[in-house]
Amino acid sequence: MKKQVSAIKGTKDILPRDVEKWQSVETAAKRIFELYGYREIRTPVFEATELFEKGTGQTSDIVIKEMYTFPDKAGRSLTLRPEYTPSVVRSIIENRLYLQPESLRFYYIGPMFRYDKPQKGRYRQFHQLDIEVFGEEDPAIDAEIVEMAHYLLQELQVTGTETFVNSVGCKKCRPAYLKDLKTEAKKAEESLCSNCQRKMATNPLRIFDCKVETCKKLAQKFPKITDYLCQECEQHFARFCEHLDFFEIEYTIEPRLVRGIDYYTKTTFEVASSKLGAQDAIIGGGRYDDMMKEFGGPDLCGIGFAMGMERLISAVPFTQMKEKFLYLAYMGDGAKRAGMELVRLLRREGIECLIEYREQSLKSQMSRANKLGAAWVLIIGEEEVKKGRYQLKDMETGDQEERTREEIMKIFGEIS
Ligand code: AMP
Repeated sequence: MKKQVSAIKGTKDILPRDVEKWQSVETAAKRIFELYGYREIRTPVFEATELFEKGTGQTSDIVIKEMYTFPDKAGRSLTLRPEYTPSVVRSIIENRLYLQPESLRFYYIGPMFRYDKPQKGRYRQFHQLDIEVFGEEDPAIDAEIVEMAHYLLQELQVTGTETFVNSVGCKKCRPAYLKDLKTEAKKAEESLCSNCQRKMATNPLRIFDCKVETCKKLAQKFPKITDYLCQECEQHFARFCEHLDFFEIEYTIEPRLVRGIDYYTKTTFEVASSKLGAQDAIIGGGRYDDMMKEFGGPDLCGIGFAMGMERLISAVPFTQMKEKFLYLAYMGDGAKRAGMELVRLLRREGIECLIEYREQSLKSQMSRANKLGAAWVLIIGEEEVKKGRYQLKDMETGDQEERTREEIMKIFGEIS
């Protein structure tokens, strides 16, 4: 037996029956994002490694442990993007999009890559629906993007979600908080896991991301960032929550929601689903007011969110979406040509048609049509070709009638 090549661990094929689900989610997302003034942007899958080191942050788990980084043939260090925001920021600066009159609102759908331990809901190649807005300081936009995410979930009939919000402060107020957090974490150092002990020195906020039970328990007693916010951050957060109330969006303030990426300022939020098990976050988002400037661009604040497609799709209740289609069954060369011509015309009328060109008896073609769930079968034998009248069978009712080509075109012209 020849050795088979398998898909790489943590990656998955999206097979045709699932692609239908992906397409319907993507179509709904695109429609809704565009209703809110967002436009699609597409950037390369790989970028210079330093983009993510700088953007995602040297102390984030993503950069420390999870990047797919490799040298190309010219010795440059490249990375398959682990998240989207740094690429968009780079693109805006490089293409000077901020000089154009259009609102800086973007959406994107595509693959991300993280070398994490694969499990249900966590993959090494996964897909995100991302949105980003730049140049809007008002917390009304923070609330509007949460409202947009909720609208999409509602359109997709996703139920059982919970929304958590927080503020992680800014450069002004966070240092005092981090100092106190470090002091408290130091006191508990011996009981923290080795990963958290490392985080204590590099970025103690990350302790809140730890999934180890003892660390989670200890973290409950650590100081809350919401008690340290400066006036500006406090007001921003209060107004964000007021707008959420105005939109009648239910949420829980979670002072330990810090999220895994270094660049967040002020608002952070997450939407989790009760239906997904351990990896329950469907959407993660937040504000990153300093990023564009730190990348050498203009001083434009930013905010965005990312939805995990795999997790979103497993929370969507799909109904049978199969389009109705016609199966063309034929016997003999003349019938084949007549059939080929008819399906060509019908397809141009918008009717999905399947004609299979392998040698099969009429009986086995009928049973294929049945098995595949065809709505109609058009049967053409040499006799039908001579008469110019074909057998059209409605598979649902079982009715079969002889029709001319013109009649067939008229019937399907009315259906499509
Ligand atoms: P993040 O970029 O880490 O804020 O993640 C945003 C969203 O992407 C999460 O809420 C998940 O839905 C999804 N996500 C993140 N990492 C993975 C992964 N390894 N596999 C599948 N989905 C993921």
